[in-house]
Amino acid sequence: MIIAIDGPAASGKSTTAKLVAKKLKVTYLDTGAMYRAVTLQLLRSKIDFVDIDKVSAILDDLIIDMFDHKGVNIVKINNEDVTGEIRSSNVTKYVSEVSALLSVRESMVVMQREIGHKTDCVIEGRDIGTIVFPNADYKFFMVADIKMRAKRRLKEMKQFGIVKSVKEVISELESRDQKDSSRDNSPLRKAKDAIEIDTSNLSIDEQVDKIIDHIKIK
Ligand code: C5P
Repeated sequence: MIIAIDGPAASGKSTTAKLVAKKLKVTYLDTGAMYRAVTLQLLRSKIDFVDIDKVSAILDDLIIDMFDHKGVNIVKINNEDVTGEIRSSNVTKYVSEVSALLSVRESMVVMQREIGHKTDCVIEGRDIGTIVFPNADYKFFMVADIKMRAKRRLKEMKQFGIVKSVKEVISELESRDQKDSSRDNSPLRKAKDAIEIDTSNLSIDEQVDKIIDHIKIK
Protein backbone atom coordinates (compact mmCIF):
# COMPACT_ATOMS: atom_id res chain seq x y z
CA MET A 1 0.00 0.00 0.00
CA ILE A 2 1.30 3.42 -0.99
CA ILE A 3 -0.03 6.61 0.57
CA ALA A 4 1.33 9.63 -1.32
CA ILE A 5 1.38 13.00 0.42
CA ASP A 6 2.52 15.92 -1.71
CA GLY A 7 2.42 19.67 -1.30
CA PRO A 8 4.49 22.84 -1.07
CA ALA A 9 7.15 23.55 1.56
CA ALA A 10 5.95 23.67 5.18
CA SER A 11 2.36 22.74 4.30
CA GLY A 12 2.30 20.22 7.15
CA LYS A 13 3.34 17.16 5.13
CA SER A 14 6.19 15.88 7.28
CA THR A 15 4.55 15.91 10.69
CA THR A 16 1.32 14.50 9.29
CA ALA A 17 2.97 11.84 7.13
CA LYS A 18 5.13 10.66 10.03
CA LEU A 19 2.12 10.31 12.34
CA VAL A 20 -0.06 8.62 9.72
CA ALA A 21 2.73 6.09 9.12
CA LYS A 22 3.05 5.48 12.86
CA LYS A 23 -0.70 4.96 13.28
CA LEU A 24 -0.87 2.55 10.34
CA LYS A 25 2.42 0.87 11.38
CA VAL A 26 3.96 1.32 7.94
CA THR A 27 7.25 2.83 6.70
CA TYR A 28 7.61 6.61 6.46
CA LEU A 29 9.67 8.01 3.60
CA ASP A 30 10.69 11.67 3.46
CA THR A 31 11.80 12.18 -0.16
CA GLY A 32 12.68 15.82 0.52
CA ALA A 33 15.39 14.56 2.88
CA MET A 34 16.82 12.51 -0.01
CA TYR A 35 17.07 15.59 -2.26
CA ARG A 36 18.60 17.51 0.64
CA ALA A 37 21.20 14.75 1.16
CA VAL A 38 22.22 14.90 -2.53
CA THR A 39 22.40 18.69 -2.35
CA LEU A 40 24.70 18.54 0.68
CA GLN A 41 27.01 16.09 -1.06
CA LEU A 42 27.13 18.21 -4.24
CA LEU A 43 27.83 21.38 -2.24
CA ARG A 44 30.63 19.63 -0.36
CA SER A 45 32.20 18.47 -3.61
CA LYS A 46 32.19 22.08 -4.87
CA ILE A 47 31.38 20.98 -8.42
CA ASP A 48 29.31 22.98 -10.85
CA PHE A 49 25.74 21.57 -10.84
CA VAL A 50 25.58 21.82 -14.64
CA ASP A 51 28.52 19.42 -15.01
CA ILE A 52 26.38 16.34 -15.70
CA ASP A 53 29.26 13.84 -15.65
CA LYS A 54 30.54 14.99 -12.27
CA VAL A 55 27.02 15.04 -10.82
CA SER A 56 26.49 11.48 -12.09
CA ALA A 57 29.81 10.32 -10.60
CA ILE A 58 28.78 11.70 -7.21
CA LEU A 59 25.37 10.05 -7.44
CA ASP A 60 27.03 6.72 -8.26
CA ASP A 61 29.12 6.89 -5.08
CA LEU A 62 26.36 8.15 -2.83
CA ILE A 63 24.67 5.83 -0.35
CA ILE A 64 21.71 7.35 1.45
CA ASP A 65 20.35 5.60 4.54
CA MET A 66 17.20 6.75 6.30
CA PHE A 67 15.74 5.19 9.42
CA ASP A 68 13.79 6.05 12.52
CA HIS A 69 15.66 6.36 15.81
CA LYS A 70 13.51 7.16 18.84
CA GLY A 71 11.05 9.12 16.69
CA VAL A 72 13.76 11.04 14.79
CA ASN A 73 14.16 10.42 11.07
CA ILE A 74 17.93 9.85 10.83
CA VAL A 75 19.58 10.54 7.47
CA LYS A 76 23.07 9.23 6.66
CA ILE A 77 25.19 9.73 3.58
CA ASN A 78 27.99 7.19 3.10
CA ASN A 79 27.53 6.26 6.76
CA GLU A 80 27.85 9.81 8.11
CA ASP A 81 24.93 11.21 10.10
CA VAL A 82 23.78 14.40 8.33
CA THR A 83 20.32 14.66 9.93
CA GLY A 84 20.92 18.22 11.12
CA GLU A 85 23.13 19.41 8.31
CA ILE A 86 20.62 18.69 5.54
CA ARG A 87 18.29 21.27 7.17
CA SER A 88 20.92 24.05 7.05
CA SER A 89 20.12 27.34 5.29
CA ASN A 90 22.71 26.62 2.64
CA VAL A 91 21.22 23.25 1.69
CA THR A 92 17.72 24.78 1.70
CA LYS A 93 18.98 27.56 -0.58
CA TYR A 94 20.27 25.16 -3.25
CA VAL A 95 17.97 22.13 -2.93
CA SER A 96 15.46 23.28 -5.57
CA GLU A 97 18.25 23.85 -8.09
CA VAL A 98 19.68 20.38 -7.45
CA SER A 99 16.32 18.62 -7.45
CA ALA A 100 15.51 20.11 -10.85
CA LEU A 101 18.40 18.12 -12.40
CA LEU A 102 17.15 15.15 -14.41
CA SER A 103 19.97 12.79 -13.35
CA VAL A 104 19.31 13.55 -9.69
CA ARG A 105 15.57 12.94 -10.05
CA GLU A 106 16.04 9.72 -11.99
CA SER A 107 18.38 8.35 -9.38
CA MET A 108 16.13 9.31 -6.44
CA VAL A 109 12.98 7.97 -8.11
CA VAL A 110 14.63 4.55 -8.61
CA MET A 111 15.41 4.42 -4.86
CA GLN A 112 11.93 5.61 -3.90
CA ARG A 113 10.20 3.03 -6.10
CA GLU A 114 12.42 0.24 -4.73
CA ILE A 115 11.38 1.12 -1.18
CA GLY A 116 7.72 1.51 -2.13
CA HIS A 117 7.60 -1.83 -3.91
CA LYS A 118 9.15 -3.63 -0.93
CA THR A 119 7.00 -2.28 1.86
CA ASP A 120 3.77 -0.47 2.68
CA CYS A 121 4.56 3.17 3.17
CA VAL A 122 3.56 6.78 3.53
CA ILE A 123 5.72 8.78 1.12
CA GLU A 124 5.87 12.55 1.20
CA GLY A 125 7.27 14.84 -1.47
CA ARG A 126 6.39 16.96 -4.45
CA ASP A 127 5.87 14.42 -7.26
CA ILE A 128 4.89 11.22 -5.46
CA GLY A 129 1.26 11.10 -6.62
CA THR A 130 2.05 12.40 -10.11
CA ILE A 131 5.33 10.73 -11.18
CA VAL A 132 6.84 8.35 -8.63
CA PHE A 133 3.66 6.41 -7.77
CA PRO A 134 0.90 7.55 -10.15
CA ASN A 135 -1.08 4.44 -9.10
CA ALA A 136 -0.71 5.06 -5.36
CA ASP A 137 -3.59 3.65 -3.30
CA TYR A 138 -4.23 7.03 -1.69
CA LYS A 139 -3.14 10.49 -2.72
CA PHE A 140 -3.27 13.68 -0.69
CA PHE A 141 -2.14 17.19 -1.52
CA MET A 142 -1.60 19.47 1.44
CA VAL A 143 -1.80 23.25 1.20
CA ALA A 144 -1.79 26.06 3.78
CA ASP A 145 -1.79 29.81 4.08
CA ILE A 146 1.73 31.25 3.53
CA LYS A 147 1.88 33.02 6.92
CA MET A 148 0.94 29.83 8.71
CA ARG A 149 3.55 27.90 6.76
CA ALA A 150 6.22 30.46 7.63
CA LYS A 151 5.34 30.23 11.33
CA ARG A 152 5.63 26.45 11.21
CA ARG A 153 8.97 26.62 9.44
CA LEU A 154 10.29 29.16 11.97
CA LYS A 155 9.35 26.82 14.81
CA GLU A 156 11.17 23.95 13.10
CA MET A 157 14.24 26.11 12.44
CA LYS A 158 14.42 27.07 16.10
CA GLN A 159 15.02 23.42 16.94
CA PHE A 160 18.12 23.55 14.74
CA GLY A 161 19.27 26.86 16.22
CA ILE A 162 18.39 28.89 13.10
CA VAL A 163 16.83 32.31 13.77
CA LYS A 164 15.11 34.25 10.96
CA SER A 165 12.29 36.77 10.55
CA VAL A 166 8.80 35.79 9.29
CA LYS A 167 9.34 38.01 6.24
CA GLU A 168 12.59 36.26 5.35
CA VAL A 169 11.02 32.81 5.71
CA ILE A 170 7.97 33.79 3.60
CA SER A 171 10.26 34.96 0.83
CA GLU A 172 12.33 31.74 0.99
CA LEU A 173 9.23 29.53 0.91
CA GLU A 174 7.72 31.43 -2.02
CA SER A 175 10.94 31.29 -3.97
CA ARG A 176 11.35 27.54 -3.38
CA ASP A 177 7.71 26.81 -4.31
CA GLN A 178 8.06 28.87 -7.45
CA LYS A 179 11.20 26.94 -8.51
CA ASP A 180 9.66 23.57 -7.59
CA SER A 181 6.43 24.29 -9.50
CA SER A 182 7.98 25.73 -12.63
CA ARG A 183 10.75 23.21 -13.33
CA ASP A 184 10.56 20.99 -16.43
CA ASN A 185 11.20 17.70 -14.62
CA SER A 186 8.43 16.52 -12.30
CA PRO A 187 7.15 19.90 -11.14
CA LEU A 188 5.23 20.25 -7.90
CA ARG A 189 1.62 19.65 -8.93
CA LYS A 190 -1.55 18.23 -7.44
CA ALA A 191 -2.41 14.89 -9.02
CA LYS A 192 -5.89 14.98 -10.59
CA ASP A 193 -7.09 12.25 -8.24
CA ALA A 194 -5.47 13.64 -5.09
CA ILE A 195 -7.55 14.88 -2.18
CA GLU A 196 -6.62 18.43 -1.22
CA ILE A 197 -6.33 19.20 2.48
CA ASP A 198 -5.98 22.81 3.60
CA THR A 199 -4.10 22.63 6.88
CA SER A 200 -4.16 26.40 7.65
CA ASN A 201 -6.67 26.02 10.46
CA LEU A 202 -6.20 22.39 11.35
CA SER A 203 -4.33 20.97 14.33
CA ILE A 204 -1.86 18.18 13.64
CA ASP A 205 -4.32 15.63 15.08
CA GLU A 206 -7.05 16.92 12.76
CA GLN A 207 -4.74 16.63 9.73
CA VAL A 208 -3.87 13.06 10.65
CA ASP A 209 -7.52 12.16 11.32
CA LYS A 210 -8.63 13.54 7.94
CA ILE A 211 -6.22 11.20 6.17
CA ILE A 212 -6.92 8.18 8.36
CA ASP A 213 -10.70 8.71 8.06
CA HIS A 214 -10.44 8.83 4.30
CA ILE A 215 -8.40 5.64 4.20
CA LYS A 216 -10.93 3.87 6.44
CA ILE A 217 -13.87 4.94 4.23
CA LYS A 218 -12.30 4.00 0.90
O1 C5P B 1 10.22 18.53 1.79
P1 C5P B 1 11.41 19.47 1.81
O2 C5P B 1 11.01 20.89 1.97
O3 C5P B 1 12.46 19.04 2.76
O4 C5P B 1 12.02 19.30 0.34
C1 C5P B 1 13.19 19.97 -0.04
C2 C5P B 1 13.21 20.17 -1.54
O5 C5P B 1 13.41 18.91 -2.18
C3 C5P B 1 11.98 20.75 -2.19
O6 C5P B 1 11.93 22.16 -2.12
C4 C5P B 1 12.12 20.26 -3.62
O7 C5P B 1 13.00 21.10 -4.36
C5 C5P B 1 12.80 18.92 -3.45
N1 C5P B 1 11.88 17.79 -3.55
C6 C5P B 1 11.53 17.37 -4.82
N2 C5P B 1 10.75 16.26 -4.96
C7 C5P B 1 10.31 15.57 -3.90
C8 C5P B 1 10.62 16.03 -2.59
C9 C5P B 1 11.39 17.16 -2.46
O8 C5P B 1 11.92 17.96 -5.81
N3 C5P B 1 9.59 14.47 -4.08
